[in-house]
Amino acid sequence: MVTPSSPQAGPPPEASTLIRIAGRLADSGVNGPGRRAVVHVQGCTLGCGGCFNPETHDAGGGTVADIDELADWLAEHAKDGVTVSGGEPFQQAPALAALAAALRQRGVASLMVFTGYDLAELAAIPSAAEAMAHLDVLVAGRFEATQRTEGSIAASANQRLHFLTDRHAPEDFDGQGGVEISILPDGQVVLTGFPSPALRRGVRALGQLG
Ligand code: SF4
Repeated sequence: MVTPSSPQAGPPPEASTLIRIAGRLADSGVNGPGRRAVVHVQGCTLGCGGCFNPETHDAGGGTVADIDELADWLAEHAKDGVTVSGGEPFQQAPALAALAAALRQRGVASLMVFTGYDLAELAAIPSAAEAMAHLDVLVAGRFEATQRTEGSIAASANQRLHFLTDRHAPEDFDGQGGVEISILPDGQVVLTGFPSPALRRGVRALGQLG
């Protein structure tokens, strides 16, 4: 769950110099190996039942970020890497490709993406291959609430972990699957990982205090 602090309504950006995002997190330990900077993109039409991030579905919600500025920020904060989550990153595939390339240009050594698409679906999306060429790890597939996992980087058992380079191995993901609550300096409350519905309700209420 991501609670944007200052949403701006409007259409998804079309130019690949821009990307619509729900929020960003400077330091997370539950979104891949090590301590990682995270960006949640905005917009998803896949409609998984029990989705953890319904606030990210509206393709006109969130804020529009300049890709170079976002890449600078992520690279500055990435200790062990960068993770792109959603929303659905490949519904802005040209922007995702541009962001991934910009992160590599800035020396980010570990780059992973969560997507609701499987590999066969990604093969049919223009610019998806261009984006994937820059990635180390892809967590792919719809979230299926009936197959929910505990203690895994994949939220449901049907999702697949794809290693696109030799940067990471399965053991790098041992102990993943936790939940983090971050309260940012501007008061934004960010819940990341795979929280229960009760925890999501509690954190949403926390974000409405004050
Ligand atoms: S792909 Fe992700 S953001 Fe989209 S509905 Fe499924 S779980 Fe939610």
